[in-house]
Amino acid sequence: MASQLPFELLIEICSYLSPIDLYSLSMICKRYRKLLWLNKSATTQSIWRTARHKFMPHITLPPPDGMSEQQFIYMMVLIQRCMFCEEEDRWKLAMHFEFRMYCCQRCLAERTVSRDTLIKEWEIPIYLLPCMQPLTANAQRPQLFLMKEVKSLLKNYKKLTNDKERKIWINEKSQRMAKLKDTNREYNNQHDIGRYDHNERLERLFRTLHMSTDYPYMFRGRRCTSREIW
Ligand SMILES: [Zn+2]
Repeated sequence: MASQLPFELLIEICSYLSPIDLYSLSMICKRYRKLLWLNKSATTQSIWRTARHKFMPHITLPPPDGMSEQQFIYMMVLIQRCMFCEEEDRWKLAMHFEFRMYCCQRCLAERTVSRDTLIKEWEIPIYLLPCMQPLTANAQRPQLFLMKEVKSLLKNYKKLTNDKERKIWINEKSQRMAKLKDTNREYNNQHDIGRYDHNERLERLFRTLHMSTDYPYMFRGRRCTSREIW
């Protein structure tokens, strides 16, 4: 019977469902999946937006540019494993909205490079660092940059032909990144408020402040020569 419901009625029913229910519904059959997951239509966006406003009032920010409502909610609430390796231990998992990643420490380390490694081994000039979105350092890890982003930044930087062009480009990028920093911090906060209760947030803070990381050696970033990078 459910598969034969008129479309309008189905949309009406969806408007009463929480994000978790919507996600379950999208797993039932292709028709529901098309409506709720694959489709980027205004109707799909509106269904998930309604659920977000009703059931997740702590998330006041809309999805960032380029992310649909359903991808955003999946990332903020629904995902339960590392997005790369399926690790399920929640103490090893964390949201890094700066990189659009919910992942374990190991996968984070494999995809990032520390500020120190960037400067000393990759020989990236310091003036290029503000052009990227880093993860702020904490007691467990140094300031990290996403390798993919570093490489793409260098590729674009090398296309610039003169100093004037480079200066303007760096200025624009740095300003954009500075603005993004606060927004990303807020996304991370809102994620943590939704996913963890008060006690878990305290425990996480405690672990960040007092425990040493499991993989300190990995946060140096993958070994590679500056020639390989440039
Ligand atoms: Zn992982």
